[in-house]
Amino acid sequence: MHRPVFAGHEKQYLAECIDSNFVSSVGARVTEFEERLATFVGARYAIATMNGTAALHIALELAGAKPGTEIIGQSLTFIATCNAASYTGATPVFVDVDRDTLGMSPQALRAFLEANAQRRDGGAWNRGTGRQIVACVPMHTFGHPCRIDEIAAICDEWGIVLVEDAAESLGSWYKGRHTGTFGRLGTFSFNGNKIITTGGGGMVVTDDEALARRCKHLTTTAKIPHPYEYVHDEVGYNYRLPNLNAALGCAQMEQLEGFLVHKRALAARYIDFFKDAGVTFVQEPANSRANYWLNAIVLDSLAERDEFLKATNEAGVMTRPIWRLMTHLKMFSGCQHGGLENANWLEERVVNIPSSVPTPWVGR
Ligand SMILES: *Cc1c(COP(=O)(O)O)cnc(C)c1O
Repeated sequence: MHRPVFAGHEKQYLAECIDSNFVSSVGARVTEFEERLATFVGARYAIATMNGTAALHIALELAGAKPGTEIIGQSLTFIATCNAASYTGATPVFVDVDRDTLGMSPQALRAFLEANAQRRDGGAWNRGTGRQIVACVPMHTFGHPCRIDEIAAICDEWGIVLVEDAAESLGSWYKGRHTGTFGRLGTFSFNGNKIITTGGGGMVVTDDEALARRCKHLTTTAKIPHPYEYVHDEVGYNYRLPNLNAALGCAQMEQLEGFLVHKRALAARYIDFFKDAGVTFVQEPANSRANYWLNAIVLDSLAERDEFLKATNEAGVMTRPIWRLMTHLKMFSGCQHGGLENANWLEERVVNIPSSVPTPWVGR
């Protein structure tokens, strides 16, 4: 549904890495990729990681997630959001999404907090479980920005750290500001199916210098810089992005603007097509500019969805249903949640359709 395009300097930059021997976790391309990404999204700092899940894991840990705490997420998301939350030992709780953005609903977030939480010591505490709700992780589904400014305001009010899962929304803006930069921390993914890819890769962005420094430290085995000695001051992670992958990332960043133009053109063709077919095509929500990473349609019922999936896949056109709700998976089925009416409604009706940048592509 979303094939990568390598039409730029990918081979040249990879060859340069190999010739230089800097293929691993140290190298100029890692820093360059971080700087390019930070500049593009308008964040002060960016720290590259080996994948988007690792970026989320670290970001949530930096937000204070640990055993005995809770994280608010949206029930309709890709599993990585909740896996990362679980790695920290925190317990996820879930709220509903909006039908137009497919992302976290600020109303649902507020309703959940008012029904289940109380403010104490500058933070939010779950009245039922007695645990602190430390972080909130909204996600910009398929690149469509959710109502992130309202969510940020609610998090502020309750003393909850906002961590944006912007894995799918590189190249998407809300009210003129890039997604991933509304919270204290934001994360991106460069997996093979994302709008740009490094093979595998991720990024944490933040404007907070101390958090950025700590993020770099934790992702590089918590090693204290020293010309020759190995001194580590805590249990860290080997989450650093290799230079080879970053080289791909630099070449891909050079093409991102062009990819975005092509993806809008493809979305415009779909809008035109589905208008006549009487099918709802998911368009960028109000106040936003979406990257149209994965195109999606909303069918009338589960039966119609199943019929559409069967017909298209049998005809060799790749289509896929939206994810199962996290609360419908056995690992998270016991988790506390607010009303999930919209998430359930969307789960039965949304289908992704082919979304690749057309090739051959010569728009660099
Ligand atoms: C892709 C993705 C991630 C991160 O995935 P990785 O494959 O680990 O890079 C996280 N959250 C969402 C919503 C995603 O789509």
